[in-house]
Amino acid sequence: MKDDLQDEDGLHPMAVWECIGSRPTHVSVRDILADRRIQSLMKELEPLRSQSKTPKATYEELDNIVYKYTGLHVYQLVSWKKQTWILCCPNLAEKSLVARRKGNKHRWFPVKIIYEHLRDPNLLDLEYEDGTIAYRVDKTDKTQMKMRDAKPGLNRHRLVGTLFYRILKVLSGKCACCDKTIYRKDNGNMDVMPPSTLGAWHFSHQEDKVREPGHCVTLPLAKAAEEYVKCRLECVECHDQSTDASWKRGTGIPRKRTYGMAFHRTIKDILESDAYQAFTKELDDRKVRSNAKEPAISFEELDELLQRHFQLCLNEVVDWDKVYWNKPRPNNKQGKTGKNRNQIITTLEYSLLKLLSGACASCSQSIQGTPPHKFNGWHMDHQHDKLFNPADVCRKNPVIARSEWAKCLLKCVRCHRQGVKPHWEEE
Ligand SMILES: [Zn+2]
Ligand SMILES: [Zn+2]
Repeated sequence: MKDDLQDEDGLHPMAVWECIGSRPTHVSVRDILADRRIQSLMKELEPLRSQSKTPKATYEELDNIVYKYTGLHVYQLVSWKKQTWILCCPNLAEKSLVARRKGNKHRWFPVKIIYEHLRDPNLLDLEYEDGTIAYRVDKTDKTQMKMRDAKPGLNRHRLVGTLFYRILKVLSGKCACCDKTIYRKDNGNMDVMPPSTLGAWHFSHQEDKVREPGHCVTLPLAKAAEEYVKCRLECVECHDQSTDASWKRGTGIPRKRTYGMAFHRTIKDILESDAYQAFTKELDDRKVRSNAKEPAISFEELDELLQRHFQLCLNEVVDWDKVYWNKPRPNNKQGKTGKNRNQIITTLEYSLLKLLSGACASCSQSIQGTPPHKFNGWHMDHQHDKLFNPADVCRKNPVIARSEWAKCLLKCVRCHRQGVKPHWEEE
């Protein structure tokens, strides 16, 4: 059998191949490194570690190489962008005048000339960036001052090393100890945890450790692989359980890092999904929004409806009970005790969408386990064309409400207040 995901050797890119259903299995680093595709990838990446002025491959070519063998894109793995690939070290973009300074003979610091001595044209007064001045420096003394060459490609080897390290992490699929996955497949697309969170996944040594895995990113890839092969992937929570975790050594403090991260899904994507459409259709068909005295469906039936469509209990989504559902307005003067039940359902949809969105778009913090009365600490953040406040549209027609929410992304209160951009929108 051959489909369009296969290359001419009849092989899938790695990550696509390893995934069973939407959830990846754990693949050992040893198996990944033994794979032909990864060996070819290493061969193609190695020369790109060059720190030359212009990179040996364009950002697009780099992305193609990575995608060809792994099914992953560069932007899914690292936070640096095309700009950084071309100009790795902006401080060294141009030739500059540098000088040593008293008390630090090992480093060179950028300086500018502020005075040329007229009597002795070889003597200069220099100003460092912090404003301090060095008087009467001899410009012919190469041990004191010099022109430093531009090295815009400095540290490109580190970029490639980090990229390769992250590839191995992601291809490993899931924590060796628990059920947390580092990626999933959503509608056939690879959905990887954001690059900013990949550092919270650890390579944990299973045999004689020589180097920290994170320090191997500057080494030639084959050399780094010799260290990686002794490791397995662990999420930060499981990694910290190990007895010799660095923060435990000699401290005696039982601190545990919990990141509580989860995958994010856009509101628009949820609204367009078959599951959600089937849910709203059933709401309409069964006239759940009816404001009649008696509700069209009982509290228990509403609970069953949520369980059937989303495997969620009603009390995970809302903080009201059966009494409220039956008589939302018990004191209504005209006896319309069922008034506003339509708004209750729209508000339920609002909470449900937040919960289904899974995590903050910017920092990946998980919303799971948040009690319903704290959902107002989670915000729908408009991305474009704001017409109404997302919470206020709960009082409007559900069609208007949904079209407004579709313009939003879920954010935790911190990212919402500080306007933190999601990783795919950063410059
Ligand atoms: Zn784990
Ligand atoms: Zn956040």
